[in-house]
Parts: sequence; structure tokens; C-alpha cells
Amino acid sequence: MDRSENLLALLDSDTAALIHNSSNIFYLSGYTGEGLLLVAAGIRAVITDFRYVEAAEKQCPEFKIHAIRPGVGHVKVAMELLEQAGIKKLAIEDNIITVRAMKDMERDMPGVEFVPLDFKPEQLRRVKDAEELRCIERACEMTCEAFEYICTYIRPGMTERQIQLELDHKMLSLGSEKLAFNTIVASGENGSLPHAVPGDRVVQAGDMVTMDFGARYHGYDADMTRTVAVGQPGEEMRRIYEIVLKAQEVSQAAIKPGMTGCELDKIARDIIAEAGYGECFGHSLGHGVGIDIHEEPRVSSRSNDVLEPGHIITIEPGIYVPGLGGVRIENTCVVTEDGGRPLCSASKELRVL
Ligand code: ZN
Ligand code: ZN
Repeated sequence: MDRSENLLALLDSDTAALIHNSSNIFYLSGYTGEGLLLVAAGIRAVITDFRYVEAAEKQCPEFKIHAIRPGVGHVKVAMELLEQAGIKKLAIEDNIITVRAMKDMERDMPGVEFVPLDFKPEQLRRVKDAEELRCIERACEMTCEAFEYICTYIRPGMTERQIQLELDHKMLSLGSEKLAFNTIVASGENGSLPHAVPGDRVVQAGDMVTMDFGARYHGYDADMTRTVAVGQPGEEMRRIYEIVLKAQEVSQAAIKPGMTGCELDKIARDIIAEAGYGECFGHSLGHGVGIDIHEEPRVSSRSNDVLEPGHIITIEPGIYVPGLGGVRIENTCVVTEDGGRPLCSASKELRVL
């Protein structure tokens, strides 16, 4: 399948697209090095420097590799290709082009009309094909395996940082090419910080520990959160756990093509609000996952994105109580023809380690 063709089908036929965003470049071509991508009718070009030429030729045989030369940088090479093809309209990623890059393009591409690409590659990336799904499934498997391992490792007296390093090491040794994002390990009262940075806090008996982490396989991310108890937790934390678990399970079971992100978000939000913790769930229910850890579609109270088969989304409700702690439970899920399917198999029942 030619993903560039799908992108061009969304543009006027006389328009080329110049891609700067590395995730979009990878999606469209398979190329992972530095440089730019230029696609148009009859043009499939990677514009890079000599360090990457050989790798680019291997990674994307359907593309012609153009190296920059002294005095002829990326934009000038793109201009040469446009001139050869007689193309005068160029779609650019208006969301990421810097003021400096825009000035360079206006200087080096005289006579070219710039139009916004308007997130079209990101829209294409929402629906994953079978190969992309397979990569995310594999990343989720490694993530779950690392979780099973870390449950046997955690003991009172360890620091959050120690647990994080062990978890990261396990994912990498299982074959994760890198970490999908910086692992979060938050224990005890630190659990009330949804994006806590693992630190020197020592895990004590009775703490709950929230771990949010993900492996990466062939360019695709997994995203999973589990909260475990180290020794018996207090009554309120136990109650909070049950509420979050219910919100996670009910909203995950409700995934269906045709529903909007905000409809799905509301299902979990209502459960948490009815239990009296509405103020303690301050983030969105989920997000798309793929080449980027956060991508489209959005699953939030403001999202009108409509779920479609092939979307990969997270379902991650949480309750955060300052001074007490927090619980978050998250699965990466695929939207199917008639519902949804979680890709993280690790059980969600409260584990008391
Ligand atoms: Zn996460
Ligand atoms: Zn997430």
C-alpha cells in the first residue's frame, strides 16, 4: 500500500506535500533518519545528507534519495524537484513549521504558493492497518510481561527510581527498541500526581504504587498503567481502586465505532462523579496511540472525533487525592468492527504484593 498516494488523494492534484514531522515521515516512507520528505504525483523523495543515504535506500526502496550538497540545502533540493515537475503549490505542516523555516522556504522557493497540510497525515495515521496493529500488539505483550516481572520484584524499602530502572531494563531486555515514553512510578501520596517523576521516595508497606509505562516495537508504542498495593492498603484507597476499576471496565466495554471521544469519556467520568470523586479525575479518559504516544483520535470531554475500526486508543481513568494518593488503570485498546478489544492482557484486579 502506498501511503503517500492516500495523502495525495486528500490534496489538489497540482499540489506537492513537504513533510518535516519525523513521525509522519516514518509513516509515509518507513524512513527513520533526519531530513525531509517530498511527495507529489511522480515524486517520492527523501531529502537528507550523506550520513543517512545508505540507510534511507534500505528503509524506503520506493523513494528516491536526494542528498544535499554544499550551498544546496534541503529546501533548495526540494525546489529543484518541484521545478523539474512543474509544480507550484506546496502543502506544508502548518502546525510545526517554525518562523525561521518559513522564512527560508519563502526565500528559497520563489513563486511557490504555500498551503496548509492541516493535519492530513495525522488523520491517515488514526486507522492502523494489520501490520501496524501487530506491532502495537507486540509492544503491549512486552509491556505486560515486564509488569508481571516487576510485581515479583517490588518490595518495601525500594525507591520509586529503583523500580522505574528495573521496569525500563526489563522492557528493553525483552526487545523494546526504546521506551515509548518516560516511565512513571508514583508511590503513596505521590500517586496524586498523574505525571509524577520517579524519585527518591521509599515505598512503604501499605502504599499503592502507580506505574505508567510502555514498550516500543518497530516504531509503534504501547501504553499501560497498573496500580498495585505493597502490603494491605487503607480503606479509602481500596474504595478508590474499585471505582477506577469499574470506570475502566465499563468504558472499555462501551467502545464502539461511531461513538465520539466525548461520549466515551462521559461514561467513565459519570461513574467517578457518582462515587463522589468527580473533582479528582482531572485529565481526559484516553488518547490515540501509534507512532506517537499521544496522537489522534482524542478521547476527552471536548473531543468530537468519531471512533472507527482500526483506531487504537487508551482507556485510562484515574482518581487523584492530594495528600492521600492516586489510582490509574490504563489499557491500550483497538476499535473493532463491532466494539473494542484490549491489547493489554495483564489482569486489573488489585494485586497486593
Ligand atoms: Zn500511560
Ligand atoms: Zn496514556
